[in-house]
Amino acid sequence: MEFSVLANSFYKMESTRKRLELTQFLVELFEKTPIEVISKIVYLIQGKLRPDFEGVELGVAEKIAIKSISKSSGIAIKKIEEEYRKGGDLGHAASVILEQKTQMTFLAEDITVERVYETLFRIANLEGSRSQDMKMKYISSLLNDATPMEASYILKILLGSLRLGIAENTVMDALAITFSGDKKNRSVLQHAYNVSSDLGKVAETVAEKGMKGVEKFEIALFNPIRPMLADRVKSEEETLEKFGERFAAEYKLDGERVQLHIKGKEVLLFSRSLENISSYYPDIIEKIPENILAENIILEAEAVAINENTGEFLPFQELMHRRRKYKIEKAVTQYPITVNLFDILYCNGKSCLELGYEERREKLEKNVKEDNFTKYIPMSVIKNKSEIEEFMENSINSGSEGLMLKMLDKPYQAGSRGSHWLKLKREYQNELGDSLDLVVIGGFFGKGRRTGSYGTLLLATYDEDEDTFTSICKVGTGFSDEDLDQIYQILNPKVTIKKNPRITSEMEADVWFEPELVIEVVASEITLSPIHKAAINKIRKGAGLALRFPKFTGKIRIEKAVEDASTNEEIVALYNGQKKVAHEKNLM
Ligand code: AMP
Repeated sequence: MEFSVLANSFYKMESTRKRLELTQFLVELFEKTPIEVISKIVYLIQGKLRPDFEGVELGVAEKIAIKSISKSSGIAIKKIEEEYRKGGDLGHAASVILEQKTQMTFLAEDITVERVYETLFRIANLEGSRSQDMKMKYISSLLNDATPMEASYILKILLGSLRLGIAENTVMDALAITFSGDKKNRSVLQHAYNVSSDLGKVAETVAEKGMKGVEKFEIALFNPIRPMLADRVKSEEETLEKFGERFAAEYKLDGERVQLHIKGKEVLLFSRSLENISSYYPDIIEKIPENILAENIILEAEAVAINENTGEFLPFQELMHRRRKYKIEKAVTQYPITVNLFDILYCNGKSCLELGYEERREKLEKNVKEDNFTKYIPMSVIKNKSEIEEFMENSINSGSEGLMLKMLDKPYQAGSRGSHWLKLKREYQNELGDSLDLVVIGGFFGKGRRTGSYGTLLLATYDEDEDTFTSICKVGTGFSDEDLDQIYQILNPKVTIKKNPRITSEMEADVWFEPELVIEVVASEITLSPIHKAAINKIRKGAGLALRFPKFTGKIRIEKAVEDASTNEEIVALYNGQKKVAHEKNLM
């Protein structure tokens, strides 16, 4: 397939943020795409080469890209940098530069999507001392044969700056329309995506075998499954109202969610956002195979830091010490953990997702042995209010956050925040009743003692309908010097010259960040706002919602993907809940 077809689609897609239009452009593109290339196209439109969990990163520095443009065009590096500074987009700068060159030469050969993809893949896999030179060689060979427009998109992909704002849901809508004529069939694709986390594979299957083929899509070991999430409840009473007579309660431990894929001694660990986190937990990799009685298995657990002397659970922050590349062995002994299993998703070659909770728990206990390191999460079947209160007391006393409540007969709903799981936290840290997980989108430089860091951050909620991040508040309190330092280290490489199209905000931040980091805040109240964009028009026309007196809790939620942040729907529910409480107070 000619790369120009894809480049033309990119050009059209860059001109809009409207979901319907994007879907239409995608349908037109998929119709022109041969089966063998469709997975590659699906990765490339998201600026990737492979699904996220494989961790294939292009990692080309601007400097190398500029040198490659110079090599291919014969134009001086200084001149390219000048052009780059004018617009702030190296892809565009390259097209302007190469335009000058192609007026003099003719193109050697048409470039294909396959060639671009393979070259990018090679670049991503280069390592070692000569890798920079090799990268330059590969890039300039592509640029030599590319038209200026093609070159601009090749560079954008290489630099990670292709931002079309296309959400997975939009890709699935377009696939459903292309291969079945009906957008409604997205749910079939959604299921396949939920169990594989690999949109390219889903696209290839539907293109090759149609919707019937996708229906037969199965879980594959070492391919992470998108996790099931919980709704929040505020009280024991609300839980009983929602769940009735009999349900399961488990401790809600404050650690890191880990999905374990195990076959003999082969073990892979995935985080809640499906990143491969095996290297942070060599202790799990080493010990867990001995506990497994099945031939192969996929389990879910909370890895929690513990006090080795007392066995008490320690807060999530303790696990941050393991987030390092070197000397991990030292961190393992310094910050010991236990693995607390709470679900089984696959066993002996078969999916367990369709089984009810009780059956899954039974299967889990049958197929995994407990010891001091590997445990089942404490669970109790609850029948009334006093039982849930007592279990909550025990949970809090052990150092947990509260309870997870689960319906006994319900299947595991991969990738969705269903109402079959609820979370109940005891410590109401603020008047809102719960903390919020918000996405950092912008920063304001600090003054005085905070010079050299971002003293205030601009935060956003996730808008599920639009797949955007909508500003909700600025936060500048609750940060220790150490927090500010750590946040600066994380955010500094994420600074962008232009605001990412998925960000909706009218604030003027000093810098904009790629929406990648989630932090936890508490606040006193949610108010209507003329400036912020969270849940805009949902309560009153022209008004968004904002947080009053927000404060950072000290928790950087590195385990959360930005799509797991608090949603506008949740914020509206909290806003309405708060109105109800005020109304009841007035009546008293
Ligand atoms: P939250 O991060 O507040 O949305 O809570 C959901 C998270 O709680 C999950 O992603 C898990 O990491 C964690 N968790 C702790 N204990 C459990 C449990 N028993 N069942 C499911 N998730 C749990």
